[in-house]
Amino acid sequence: MSTTYDVINPATGKAVKQIKEASVEETDAIIAKAAEAFKSWRNVTPYDRSNLLRAFSNKVREHREELAKIEIENSGHTRGNALWEADNVANVLNYYAGVPERLYGRQIPVAGGVDITFKEPIGVVGIIVPWNFPMPIAGWGFSAALATGNTVVLKPAELTPLTAIRLGELALEAGIPEGVLNIIPGKGSVVGNRFVTNPLVRKVSFTGSTAVGKSIMAGCADQVKRVTLELGGKSANIIFADTDIEAAANAAPGGVFDNAGQDCCARTRILVEKKAFDKFMEHFEKAVKSFRCEDPNLDSAGMGPLISKKQMDVVTSYINNESDSKLAFQGSMTPSGDGFWVPPTVLLPKDTKAKAWQEEIFGPVVAVLPFEDEADAIAKANDSIYGLSGSIYTSNLGKALRLSRAVETGNLSVNSHSSVRYWTPFGGFKQSGLGRALGPDSLDMYTETKNVFFNSEN
Ligand code: NAD
Repeated sequence: MSTTYDVINPATGKAVKQIKEASVEETDAIIAKAAEAFKSWRNVTPYDRSNLLRAFSNKVREHREELAKIEIENSGHTRGNALWEADNVANVLNYYAGVPERLYGRQIPVAGGVDITFKEPIGVVGIIVPWNFPMPIAGWGFSAALATGNTVVLKPAELTPLTAIRLGELALEAGIPEGVLNIIPGKGSVVGNRFVTNPLVRKVSFTGSTAVGKSIMAGCADQVKRVTLELGGKSANIIFADTDIEAAANAAPGGVFDNAGQDCCARTRILVEKKAFDKFMEHFEKAVKSFRCEDPNLDSAGMGPLISKKQMDVVTSYINNESDSKLAFQGSMTPSGDGFWVPPTVLLPKDTKAKAWQEEIFGPVVAVLPFEDEADAIAKANDSIYGLSGSIYTSNLGKALRLSRAVETGNLSVNSHSSVRYWTPFGGFKQSGLGRALGPDSLDMYTETKNVFFNSEN
């Protein structure tokens, strides 16, 4: 039996909309529909599939204001971020619209015939999305999956289903056939778990916490089901004394407090070369205090509220744990309602074993520690179960290159905090994930390589 629940606006704590969550039986029925649709979608000509994805991209772009408005209300994202996120879905769809006509195999020299490889679609792909970036993460999954000829069942996070539901409607309006992209709101333990156990779903693409990702990987093992995982992070921002310290300090808040720190790529561990530590902290305090935490509808907002009361309580427990970390300073905040607000916060952990240094907090909290030299910086950066993102600030090219190779992480930026472009690969080392989203690498995640030998001797 299906049930309903209220989706909450995190800036005000008020209900926005009632959502019906799917039961196991309803989930199975939609998966069966997607399996049926796969039979024809995989055979849509490359030209037609490309055009349908382009039409979907255009439709999303036409509705960017509407989608952004929904996201601000459902997720508390700033207006600037929400518009960027809607555009990101349109851009990713447009990028992968070029794929059907370019999904090349290889011709490999052999004796007595011809050997060709094909990139075959996998079938029904189950995409499980977290609440922190509802639009982009849905779009990264479904764009690549649809372009390569798969059909999709997608489960948005319980807290943030509204934009995914609207994107599903826009796909139909753009001409994507019924059954090809199916949005199924519901519980992780019900709908998400069914993606793992229903044999008609041939691949699961999961983005979320490392704990749930591990259980999904274990569940998929039963059917040797294909799985990609985009999981947690505790990324390091490594700042050497030879860089422009004031500029690095001014850039640091944007690298960690964007989306109120609810970002798997947030640079939540700042490592500063000891001789520049005091100078960095002096400039960093000014930068943090001028980072604007306010009503997300304002164009000036740097960050809004946290997603839920539960998340606010978790984040606050790290800030109040004085035996673990000392509070260095906090930024200001002008919340406009009863929502779930925490100001930008800077902690000084007691050492590298501190919880605030090791655990993913997923809120506007950053921990800062000094390092001695290059070797110490590498050792401290790599002392983590995670390896998703990170930054290196130095004016020494050789040092930048050495660090880029030595830091065990999937996405690094040198003298910048940018790490996600839709045409470059994105994913994690270690317990931050398995496989890659975006760019050309994502196509391998949604296809099987088939090798065919044609005998020319008979
Ligand atoms: P979560 O793991 O609690 O939930 C993620 C999704 O999984 C939700 O849709 C949820 O309903 C579903 N789910 C929960 N239990 C399930 C189960 N047993 N079976 C199947 N599905 C289940 O994560 P969250 O709290 O929504 O998101 C925050 C986490 O996501 C953070 O750890 C963050 O680092 C991570 N994240 C990673 C990336 C990345 O690309 N590496 C991007 C964004 C977020």
